[in-house]
Amino acid sequence: MRFSSALVTGGAGFLGSHLCEELLRRGCRVIALDSLITGRRDNLAHLLDTPGFRFVEQDVCDPLTLPEPVEVVLHLASPASPLDFTRIPFEILRTNSAGTWNMLEFARANSARFLLASTSEVYGDPLEHPQREEYCGNVNPIGERAVYDEGKRFAEALTAAYRRFRQLDTCIARIFNTYGPRMRADDGRAIPTFIRQALAGEPLTVFGDGRQTRSFCHVDDMVRGLIALAESGEAGPVNLGNPKEITILEAACLVIEITGSSSSIVNRPAEKDDPRRRCPDIAKARRLLGWEPAVPLRDGLAATVRYFRDTEA
Ligand code: UDP
Repeated sequence: MRFSSALVTGGAGFLGSHLCEELLRRGCRVIALDSLITGRRDNLAHLLDTPGFRFVEQDVCDPLTLPEPVEVVLHLASPASPLDFTRIPFEILRTNSAGTWNMLEFARANSARFLLASTSEVYGDPLEHPQREEYCGNVNPIGERAVYDEGKRFAEALTAAYRRFRQLDTCIARIFNTYGPRMRADDGRAIPTFIRQALAGEPLTVFGDGRQTRSFCHVDDMVRGLIALAESGEAGPVNLGNPKEITILEAACLVIEITGSSSSIVNRPAEKDDPRRRCPDIAKARRLLGWEPAVPLRDGLAATVRYFRDTEA
């Protein structure tokens, strides 16, 4: 492991908690920072007694001082579910703007490498498929998703400016749809919603005609990709995601099959500004990081279903 100490913002979130776990497993000391606005202390409960691990409950916008410097800042903090876009829009904008600014300054004060967890949402409702990093996107700047899309685009611009004008060692990961254990059952996203509905024997709610596509990456693959990018000298942006594209209707059917549920599928009105197709071109990640996803969707979903069964029990 290139780094011996890391700050993970959003460390109590779904992705952040898996990242903390893997960094610790690789022998890195980890400080997890989280305001718990969408993160959960429970996600870290199993790590709290691990030597080298510390949890700090604090907003990324607030001044941060730590007793020892860190070598890398992995900046994941931000609500990311479409439900949050209408529930806490200003918190999202603030976290991605002021919060990112604060964490970049923190990285500078520590002479640390800085990784921004950006998103495929920067491509908006893309007109190019699959999406390459060079594609500049098709984003509605005043739409319902804009607080997140534009928040992340600002965070990317700021991170690039720190690299260009402040000589900070930065990199940007563009994270595509990721799923796995510790997603919130009520966070509104397709995979946890479908699993919860299938396990409860309720109809699976497919928005629109279900022909919109996504490409779902298992969280273990994503964590490996994030660490590979952080450890590389690359600036990015680098797409991280699973290049296997499926329709939302197919995803719903797969969840029904894996859970063995007798649930039906119902159609609900499509979400506003919902991207029709999304699929990463990961040639750059393959070439620069030697990374690609390894977990087949069926296996990853089965493991996620087991998690939901166990936690609901
Ligand atoms: N979706 C759906 N039913 C749900 C939740 C989501 O059909 O109960 C659809 C949603 O409209 C979108 C896709 O699934 O087209 C992926 O949505 P998700 O919220 O998981 O991620 P994102 O929109 O951020 O890619």
